[in-house]
Amino acid sequence: MNVLFVSSEIYPLNKTGGLGDVAYSLPHALSEVGQDVRILMPAYRSVIEKVDSLCPVGRFDLIGQHQRHSVRVFQATHSEFNVRLYLVDCQPLYDRPGNPYLQPGGQDWPDNAERFTVFARAAEQIAIHGCDDGWQPDIVHCNDWQCGLIPALLSTHTRRPRSVFTIHNLAYGGHFSAADYHALQLPPALWHMEGAEFHGGFSMLKCGIVFADAVTTVSPTYAREICTPEHGWGMDGVLRAHQHKLYGILNGIDERHWDPAQDPALPLPYTVETVDAGKRAAKQALLQHFQPDIDQADALDRPLVGLVGRLVMQKGIDLIIDVLPNILATSEAHFVFLGTGDHQWEQRLTALAKRHPQRIMLEVGFSENRAHLIEASADLFLMPSRFEPCGLNQLYSLRYGTPPVVHNTGGLADTVVHTTPATLANATANGFVFDTPTPAALATCLASALEAFADKSRWSRLITHGMSLDLGWNGRALQYLERYHH
Ligand code: ADP
Repeated sequence: MNVLFVSSEIYPLNKTGGLGDVAYSLPHALSEVGQDVRILMPAYRSVIEKVDSLCPVGRFDLIGQHQRHSVRVFQATHSEFNVRLYLVDCQPLYDRPGNPYLQPGGQDWPDNAERFTVFARAAEQIAIHGCDDGWQPDIVHCNDWQCGLIPALLSTHTRRPRSVFTIHNLAYGGHFSAADYHALQLPPALWHMEGAEFHGGFSMLKCGIVFADAVTTVSPTYAREICTPEHGWGMDGVLRAHQHKLYGILNGIDERHWDPAQDPALPLPYTVETVDAGKRAAKQALLQHFQPDIDQADALDRPLVGLVGRLVMQKGIDLIIDVLPNILATSEAHFVFLGTGDHQWEQRLTALAKRHPQRIMLEVGFSENRAHLIEASADLFLMPSRFEPCGLNQLYSLRYGTPPVVHNTGGLADTVVHTTPATLANATANGFVFDTPTPAALATCLASALEAFADKSRWSRLITHGMSLDLGWNGRALQYLERYHH
């Protein structure tokens, strides 16, 4: 099949979270199982700076907000891309520094409605008229709210490719005003309660859900959860109305980039046979980086608990901050945190790390290399997310022999199996799971994980189960292909 895969972020060109990883891995996995996939994304400044070459292959005159834009399409090359990459270039909209959605001060770009409408219109042109070499997509695969308008615009054509819309996180809705909708001259026929309108405003996410031929999300449990008021962000009614076309397909991990046996970020790459030595070398390198002055021999023998991720309420960062003083007092664990996010959580973690410099290592920032080193060096990985569409970090942890401690929700529930005598015996145990997102439940679960760590033979079985799982994309790509054919 010919698949046009559209996303507003794609690793390694740009990435704010898991979407970037998936938008790189899934098209490549589909290509590896024989599909003809082409990727389309906006030509952000950071993307233009990273690609190896650019060749103009199209030009459109597209309607924006109170103005028309001259938009170019470039075909780009990059050493890590084995599928064709197209960039939608419109300098007034995309040639900006930093985050694709936020201004340097952290607020949304004020013209996001226009930026992602013009992007959607460019995708519509390519989807309907094909590429310069006559290639025509059978499927347009759209991701998250930034691509939500594409299925809506395609629905206005009688001869069109089919559309798939994937929800990576329902919490980010792409909600704008009715005035934006009309100023952008979007189709009046789609402006109704069962269409683009959402509580009097305009929602790009809802457009994706309503107008796509199929909707997927990134885990089976999340597919069920988002149809409930508790996890639906007000969109659960819409999702229930479209539940007949909603499917959950688990994310995989890119085994070229996340494999401890060939990870250039690790001092001593390792397999399940050499995991102890590999993890010890990684821990040594991590301690050397963060705490060159402390007694490393002592720290090397203590359990190290790691976290990499966005420092926001979704990830349960407040729960961790709540329980940390008590865990520090009652255990001998060390902690390492890498993340950026809400200012208040960054500040509170910084204050805690300052108070316990021997026990807490903290980096407020984004570092791909350090993320790999933490996955390898930690003994346990913390992920107490309140909700988690799929989660990639727990999958990386399983792959790196670092049992995750997770809340029983979304993709975490689908991938982490709590350690009990029964799950140890049937070789499924791979981590620690708690049922309610409260500080008390997290503290109890973490304490039992630390206790289990002390039993080396039990621990090594746990690690082996996690490291032996098939977490790659190939099987997942086949599930997407089945949806496309359907
Ligand atoms: P989400 O998409 O909700 O942020 P995921 O677990 O699905 O969460 O994916 C997060 C991705 O972003 C992972 O690849 C993770 O390693 C990466 N990541 C998040 N924060 C950081 C950071 N501060 N430094 C490096 N990588 C990070």
